Amino acid sequence: MSLLFSYSLSLFFFFFFFFLNLHALRASPDTGILSSEHTNHHFTLHGTRRYVYFTGKPRWVRPMTPMTLTYAFSPDNMINSLSLSDIRQVFKRAFARWASVIPVSFAESEDYGFADIRIGFYSGDHGDGEPFDGVLGILAHSFSPESGRLHLDAAETWAVDFGMEKSPVAVDLESVATHEIGHLLGLGHSLVKEAIMYPNLKPRDKKVDLQRDDIEGVQALYGSNPNYTVGDLSESYISTNLAVDFRTSRQSKWANFILALIIICLCICN
Ligand SMILES: [Zn+2]
Ligand SMILES: [Zn+2]
Repeated sequence: MSLLFSYSLSLFFFFFFFFLNLHALRASPDTGILSSEHTNHHFTLHGTRRYVYFTGKPRWVRPMTPMTLTYAFSPDNMINSLSLSDIRQVFKRAFARWASVIPVSFAESEDYGFADIRIGFYSGDHGDGEPFDGVLGILAHSFSPESGRLHLDAAETWAVDFGMEKSPVAVDLESVATHEIGHLLGLGHSLVKEAIMYPNLKPRDKKVDLQRDDIEGVQALYGSNPNYTVGDLSESYISTNLAVDFRTSRQSKWANFILALIIICLCICN
């Protein structure tokens, strides 16, 4: 077999697995998965934009500008380990971060039945076809616009302050809330490890600042908040962005697998 054929075969396998992987990300309604199996960062060579939308690119549409979406907490599905006022403060801050970059505001409502966004804590199989799995693993899930459902796994040790909550499996509520709101607005999982929309979060990690990838993704859906300027991105963003570039040489399981395939093809074909 010719060398040209073997290269073509290798390229076919590479793109086959690349698109397979991207499709899997889009197909998922959402997950906040703790495992480190979702390693897609070897695809960073494909341009700088790595945010992802749900299939069909759904977004919220309201006649008024700026748009206001209401949110409410389920009166029947909360947790006892945190006070309602702590939970409300956490979500208020998480919504405010997204509102600062797009012309959308969020207002808490007492009317759970009529709120655009409905937030609650649930255990195991809770009737939406996306059962929770107990401690760690899946932390929360939300659905694409305009479903508005944001569900958190009640089995987690939710924390608002790691100084007070010493559990090694404690999960930062604000980090997860910020991530899930991104899904509610229409963002899928990003390939950028530092992004809020990256699918993994370790226990006791806090990750609440929107990164350029998150901001560009959500602004492509809703436009920019007139009060937002690119200069708002902090110095810490710039330094973490540099760190991404240093890590692109790390290879995932998939990259190793594809590399092995290419080598096998070359050996067989020659
Ligand atoms: Zn997610
Ligand atoms: Zn659910």
